[in-house]
Amino acid sequence: LRILGIETSCDETAAAVVERDAEGHSNVLSDVVLSQLDEHSAYGGVVPEIAARAHVEALDELIEEALKRANVSLGDVDAIAATSGPGLIGGLLVGLMTGKAIARAAGKPLYAVNHLEGHALTARLTDGLSFPYLMLLVSGGHTQLILVRGVGQYERWGTTIDDALGEAFDKTAKLLGLPYPGGPAVERMARDGNPDRFNFPRPLVGEARLDFSFSGLKTAVRQAAQDIAPLSDQDVADICASFQKAISRTLKDRIGRGLQRFKTEFPATLPTPGPATGSAAGEKPALVVAGGVAANLELRGTLQALCDKNGFRFIAPPLHLCTDNAVMIAWAGLERMAAGAAPDALDVQPRSRWPLDSNAETLVGFGK
Ligand code: ATP
Ligand code: MG
Ligand code: FE
Repeated sequence: LRILGIETSCDETAAAVVERDAEGHSNVLSDVVLSQLDEHSAYGGVVPEIAARAHVEALDELIEEALKRANVSLGDVDAIAATSGPGLIGGLLVGLMTGKAIARAAGKPLYAVNHLEGHALTARLTDGLSFPYLMLLVSGGHTQLILVRGVGQYERWGTTIDDALGEAFDKTAKLLGLPYPGGPAVERMARDGNPDRFNFPRPLVGEARLDFSFSGLKTAVRQAAQDIAPLSDQDVADICASFQKAISRTLKDRIGRGLQRFKTEFPATLPTPGPATGSAAGEKPALVVAGGVAANLELRGTLQALCDKNGFRFIAPPLHLCTDNAVMIAWAGLERMAAGAAPDALDVQPRSRWPLDSNAETLVGFGK
């Protein structure tokens, strides 16, 4: 199976070709991403109109480039997979319309892929992971802990009740006068800071539910910054370090509970997971991380230690596959097709909101 993937849900325009051969070996034949970062950074965030226009301008050429680098023509692909939600509606329209047009012109099936499903299934491409596993998605738009039971079988165990984690980094950076995107800037400053100078709140820590909340943290940072203004570089570094520590502690508590729940629901004695690729029966359970915040080394360290302590494997796919890309969209389309999912009709509409667990399909995987 060979799939052309298209991704335009936010501020990356991307196209990729991915294949799986008869023996089950997977290959990324091409992976082209054009980040719009420079076009948005002056505004301190993604501007939807600018994003949509930039997708229109870049997408056709990017798709040609992806096919060229993969050394295939449209006739050589088995299907087109395009992100159809969730995300910014203008960008989604551009990518999905283009996907439909290509599918129609080339006479190929179209898979309208949920962006979050792309993130959720990436670890099966990179690490051959078998179902079930836990996935923590921490990006600019999402903060979710998801149980991945199988292709099309997702349970959202926890979600943010206010800001996404990447958003908290971005807003905190902004109010400290650091550049956009905030995550890398905050992490850099935190290296020289004292993490114990400020005792920032750790929302929901200790609660049984698996949700997250980060807006109170941001407010506490604003208050602290106002209290000691004007800020020296050391003050900013101390705030950043203390902010990251609060997040680390929060994740440790929230995800720690998630790992416990996983162990309760899937005790080691369970039979072998279904017709998945790769790993063998009786293997340790796995926590996968995805999204741009996964680049943060301190948070990675926290999650790694937590997994070690709980007998989980910690899986962090290469960063360019953790952030937005079209490889994961092509791969999700491939997994759906391989699982026997019907292609989407050409009148399928993009959806700016589309929770992953609203897919009611039951395909392959670790059934109940
Ligand atoms: P989504 O994929 O949810 O639609 P997005 O495009 O914002 O949203 P990504 O591109 O995956 O998501 O990630 C970008 C986010 O990751 C930004 O909020 C950015 O600040 C954050 N980020 C990037 N690097 C780091 C880092 N080193 N530490 C913390 N956060 C980071
Ligand atoms: Mg992005
Ligand atoms: Fe994403």
